[in-house]
Amino acid sequence: MNPLISDTEGISVSGSITGLDHLLVPGQIDISHGLILYLENISVSFDGFRALNDLSLSLKPGELRCVIGPNGAGKTTMMDVITGKTRPDSGQAFLGQTIDLTKLDEPAIAHAGVGRKFQKPTVFEQHTVWENLELACDNDKRWFAAFHAGLDRRTRERIEQTLSLIDLERQAGRRAGALSHGQKQRLEIGMLLMQQPQLLLLDEPAAGMTDEETVQLAKLLQTLRGHCTMMVVEHDMSFVASLAGDTGRVTVMAQGRVLAEGTLDAVQRDERVIESYLGR
Ligand code: ADP
Ligand code: MG
Repeated sequence: MNPLISDTEGISVSGSITGLDHLLVPGQIDISHGLILYLENISVSFDGFRALNDLSLSLKPGELRCVIGPNGAGKTTMMDVITGKTRPDSGQAFLGQTIDLTKLDEPAIAHAGVGRKFQKPTVFEQHTVWENLELACDNDKRWFAAFHAGLDRRTRERIEQTLSLIDLERQAGRRAGALSHGQKQRLEIGMLLMQQPQLLLLDEPAAGMTDEETVQLAKLLQTLRGHCTMMVVEHDMSFVASLAGDTGRVTVMAQGRVLAEGTLDAVQRDERVIESYLGR
């Protein structure tokens, strides 16, 4: 068994075989109370329509949480609230114990350790894969590179580790614009990883991917499991099944709130879920 994915709840400390511990360093988020994300009674209205309606949801550090639910359930709006793109009308949103997400703007939330992957890959098409990862580095590293005519050794190592993780080592010198859709998606995840997020939000990452690309993406996310907390919104149920396995928690959203939560097997057997979503 892969020791990286043996621990589904807590943060695994056995990442040395791929150097992930080195890659993803723990940040300043206070997780002493056992939660990295805490949403309570969040409501968001658009012209009187409640996109989020008393939504409560929390994540433990290291968790890989899949979120499913019909179109319009509010999944993307929830990510907008977490990343500061949308302000909730009411409710609480905390990163760890102390960081009030409703008080920070988008750059501050990203800086605090929240990375977000949108559905459409946004890479620098004219630059090579390597340059994309370099550009995604934090500013200090780029300043260092500018003044010292080269990246420091640690940054180079991190880029190399990331390339290996996203399986684009052989494409390092290629223009990002020439990559396949699945490769671009993996590159964008690599770019997010360069910023060492503590919480990674992925909104329908498998959309538009071939079956093979989807399997490869699932493998990548499994490798990250335990090292960085992830929330994955996805429609593709076989993809969700491969991420959640038998024990991972799956959240079902409908009409702006959590309808059910539990293992995939349990939520699939939940009457309310069958009625509102799966059985349609
Ligand atoms: P999901 O991602 O689960 O499909 P969304 O969060 O995108 O759902 O949308 C939830 C509801 O809120 C939808 O009915 C959508 O039309 C509405 N909505 C989302 N964003 C906006 C917006 N900026 N303005 C108006 N309505 C919006
Ligand atoms: Mg959406």
